[in-house]
Amino acid sequence: MSPDPFHPTLLVLSAPTGGGKTTIGRRVVEADGAIRFSVSHTTRAPRPGERDGVDYHFVDEASFEAMAGRGEFLEWAQVHGRFYGTHRGELDRAREGGWDLLLDIDVQGGLQVKEVDPSAVLVFILPPSVEVMLQRLGNRAEEPGFDLRRRMATAERELELAQAYDYNVLNEDLDVAVGQVRRILEASRLRAAGREAAGRRVREGVSAWLRGSNVRGG
Ligand code: 5GP
Repeated sequence: MSPDPFHPTLLVLSAPTGGGKTTIGRRVVEADGAIRFSVSHTTRAPRPGERDGVDYHFVDEASFEAMAGRGEFLEWAQVHGRFYGTHRGELDRAREGGWDLLLDIDVQGGLQVKEVDPSAVLVFILPPSVEVMLQRLGNRAEEPGFDLRRRMATAERELELAQAYDYNVLNEDLDVAVGQVRRILEASRLRAAGREAAGRRVREGVSAWLRGSNVRGG
């Protein structure tokens, strides 16, 4: 009897600026053990403390465009003038290694992933209010080059698309939000699509029993 081929669950987390999705993602990955972050490619410069190959694969525009041209990305998008994409290699590694993938990507990317893989699970993290969003941005809003208005305009567009996602999780209390995302992940792993072989085995067993049984119902 062949086991089910492993099909990684793609859990997409998106949120407007100040939504807290990176913190939630980290907590879910730490607590779960069977899901890993997908490491995206980007053309933006590394921030202090970020490591190539860990936080992102940092590449120049020419390389990114060449990879996109060859169809190597599962999805890609332009965010605030920079390119970001999920390389198909991330999915191959997850399939071989037997782990699920958490994609911390924007809404444009999330909707593309759903088109390519309808079994992907899209979770939108909602900040409770504009005041909380601004408060969470905190000191970052003071950094040189940080364009708050532009971020808020992007947030407005993303919030309009929240309804296109499978789940909306309100991030008012971090522990509650992390718990909800973990339950969504657990439930996704139990969906019928990933359990075809198990279902088929039982069905064949029932059919064989019916053929072999002398007992006639009535
Ligand atoms: P940051 O530059 O602050 O790390 O990320 C900016 C935005 O790009 C965030 O919303 C982040 O989730 C998104 N992002 C990061 N990686 C990807 C990716 O591979 N694809 C898409 N579509 N968005 C991404």
